[in-house]
Amino acid sequence: MFQSSTAPNRKVAKGKVLDPDIDYSKVKSVHSISSWWGIGGIAMILLIGNLTSYSNSHLPDALRNSHLASFPNAFIAERAYKDLKILNDFGPKPTGSYANEVLAVDFLLREISYIEQLRNKNQNLQVDKQIVSGGYVGVYMNKSATSVYRNVQNVIVKLAGKNSDQALLLNCHFDSVATSPGASDDLSGCAVMLEILRVLSRQSEINQNSILFLFNGAEETPLQASHGFITKHRWAKEVKAFINLESAGSGGKEMLFQSGPRNPWLIEMYAKAIMYPFAQAAAEEVFQSGVIPSDTDFRVFRDAGGVPGMDFAYTANGYRYHTKYDSIDYIPMAVLQRTGDNILSLTRTMANSDKLGQQGQNREHTVYFDFLGLIFIFYSADTAFMINLSVVLLSIIIPFLSLARLGSTSGSHGRQIRSETMIGFVATFLGAGVGGVVCFLLAYQLDLLGSSMSWYSSTNLVLGVYCCPALLSHCIVHMLCGNVFGSKTTPLSLALKVQARLNGVNLFWGMITLGVTFTGYRTAYIFMILIFFSLLSSTLISMFAVQNSVHKWLFIHMFFQVFALLWSTQFYHMMLNLFIPITGRIGASINPDLIIGVMANFLTLLACSYMTPLLFLLKKVDKLVGELVAITLIAFVLASSTHVGFPYRDDTLRSPSVQRHYITHTLRTFHDYSGGVRKTDSGFLLQELDRNARKTIEGIAMPDNITPMREIPACETELFCAIPFYSIWHQVLFENYWIPGPQPLVHSSVRCLLRRKEQTSRHEHKLQLQLQGDHQSALVIGPRAGATLQGWDIVDELADPIEFNGQRGYFVLIATGSNPGPMNITLQLKHEIANYDGPLVDITVTTTFWEHQKHFTPVFNKLLTRVPSWAHVVPSVAAVNGYTF
Ligand SMILES: [Zn+2]
Repeated sequence: MFQSSTAPNRKVAKGKVLDPDIDYSKVKSVHSISSWWGIGGIAMILLIGNLTSYSNSHLPDALRNSHLASFPNAFIAERAYKDLKILNDFGPKPTGSYANEVLAVDFLLREISYIEQLRNKNQNLQVDKQIVSGGYVGVYMNKSATSVYRNVQNVIVKLAGKNSDQALLLNCHFDSVATSPGASDDLSGCAVMLEILRVLSRQSEINQNSILFLFNGAEETPLQASHGFITKHRWAKEVKAFINLESAGSGGKEMLFQSGPRNPWLIEMYAKAIMYPFAQAAAEEVFQSGVIPSDTDFRVFRDAGGVPGMDFAYTANGYRYHTKYDSIDYIPMAVLQRTGDNILSLTRTMANSDKLGQQGQNREHTVYFDFLGLIFIFYSADTAFMINLSVVLLSIIIPFLSLARLGSTSGSHGRQIRSETMIGFVATFLGAGVGGVVCFLLAYQLDLLGSSMSWYSSTNLVLGVYCCPALLSHCIVHMLCGNVFGSKTTPLSLALKVQARLNGVNLFWGMITLGVTFTGYRTAYIFMILIFFSLLSSTLISMFAVQNSVHKWLFIHMFFQVFALLWSTQFYHMMLNLFIPITGRIGASINPDLIIGVMANFLTLLACSYMTPLLFLLKKVDKLVGELVAITLIAFVLASSTHVGFPYRDDTLRSPSVQRHYITHTLRTFHDYSGGVRKTDSGFLLQELDRNARKTIEGIAMPDNITPMREIPACETELFCAIPFYSIWHQVLFENYWIPGPQPLVHSSVRCLLRRKEQTSRHEHKLQLQLQGDHQSALVIGPRAGATLQGWDIVDELADPIEFNGQRGYFVLIATGSNPGPMNITLQLKHEIANYDGPLVDITVTTTFWEHQKHFTPVFNKLLTRVPSWAHVVPSVAAVNGYTF
């Protein structure tokens, strides 16, 4: 089918004696390398991929209470697990719930008091329960929102150090989202912290610096309790650095995914202390680019507290994140042992370091990464620049000189090597592009066939559906480039030709490395390391002068490719393990197959680019091509026509990967300008969280029809369509659907009363409002045409308005820990008409009742029974009250 470019060269090699150093009998044998070696190469990639997958998920053995005698100062996972179990069994703990505000807080205080009783007499331990109110303006996904918290709770323990004014902060949150016990997010962080406190408080030596343990009770609301601590607590000023324990998955290895800002000493501490490293500077750049729809308290400590720190999170099994499956059933004790060993050691190191008090002096960025969890490497961004530049230049120059010096002195030999290098470069470049286009078209086609996200549960389908066609494209482009650009009369032996083309691959990654380096991204190290292994092999090939002894140079090349593959396939697992579950919660507007397809093409290139030019050594390339085509076809059939390609799984096999749904039974009451009730209606709002959700939503709604939220009749008359938004980011960006239905049971909701309305100048007016009710709620304040909001007293600054339904409104989230009484709000509005006496502003107040199952109506319960077992629903009840003042 495709002609390998080897045929004409064989004639040339036979016809002329070109170089006395070349053993042409060996060169000839090259042509007869069986095509099975091609399959062997692919098998090798898969095998190494399995090894890195194992290393990605391998955890140390957990220590039990029985180990205490032998390891008195060690982290004992069994004790942490006991705490985790108790917190887990309280069930879901949204802020404001009894489980969060009473059960969890009481447990923490009780456990801490036991720890205090058993502490070493040298240690000084202070405990404080902070009940705090406040607020801040946050911007997420380019949407601005004001976050207000009222009486949320923090439990804080101070283990005093010799320096009483310098402290390291450890932070976790014990609240969870509705329906989820939050075992991984983030009770495991709290259980680890309790055990660290237990261990450190029992040692006789006093630490140099104090350690603050912050167990915060309002993170999911979002990021409120940590804000209350860092801006208002009396110990906050002592904090010089922090360690934040979080989760975006369920179990696995905790990853250092953010550090700083800058402050390279933090990474030095990590390198010194950590027992099982798992950290990538690239992850930090990906996270801070905002493509991951999550955030952590790291942002609050950094921005509101001005404190540097490190952010750790579990990233495996993101399917279970924020679902009922984030429970202790899926957290083995070994997870706690690994995190505990690491964080205990890091805490000890930081708490006894002089550097804690000197943070912020060195403002350099650090490049850091681990290799299979075995070694951890870090250096400054300036050093990275020199390293990247040197590795790139050497990796291109050494093989070039090594190959060119073998030729005749006429100079044409060097030119041939150069032109073959360029062919290697162009083929890699075009192969990457063509592979991308092919994956793009396949992604488009699968989506069109209704087989979107076929790899969601059967993640290995990515290999067949995208990696295989990507590799096929790379191979075909290499062959075509060889045929089109390759000289038919080249005097080069095939061995030299293939090595020159491999140097073209160096040139390709070299340009990417330098491009990424010059744009200031540290992520360039990923490509630099890949080139580094190639540099090692070409240096050895040159040193031993085995350029023409095919089996020898090939052996050296493949030996270093084993390391290159160990390096590149770890990114395959890291990226896909992270992003595949995320496609289940990014809404329906983006085709997720495009994301995974393009990613698979990139990862295939990363893993296989130094193998593809070896194709020319094979006897029959057609066979390899045929096999890749066959694998692709089989994968396509599996993806589009069998259960393997069905995206979701329930928990029968104890590995749930469910489709996510939020269904809100809603009661809406609209008031007119005079305060009377103008209209009421009710129904269900269903949120579309992934590409396939609409189909499921239609099934749940049957026999009723669903209406997209932007098309419901209320959009013509009400602010923001009177949608019960409880969070602005996802709900506004995603599509939601409305089904009219009977009213839910609502015992109480937040009401907005106009206390006073006065004109303060010709154009200015002041409104005093009072919110009554104590639940999690959200306000949308929409000034009417001609009016603008000039100021308010909700928080210190006025947020930017956001747009929805062609209207502009200010979004305010209010989370309440325990009932603090009515909330008074003053708004200053300006109207373009002097002495205007009409309505100035529309206000919508949404009260959301989470964990309200006991009060669901039979109709709502019936609707929920129609949710398939492979789907996970977060049901809630909401009351929307609309006002005009
Ligand atoms: Zn969390």
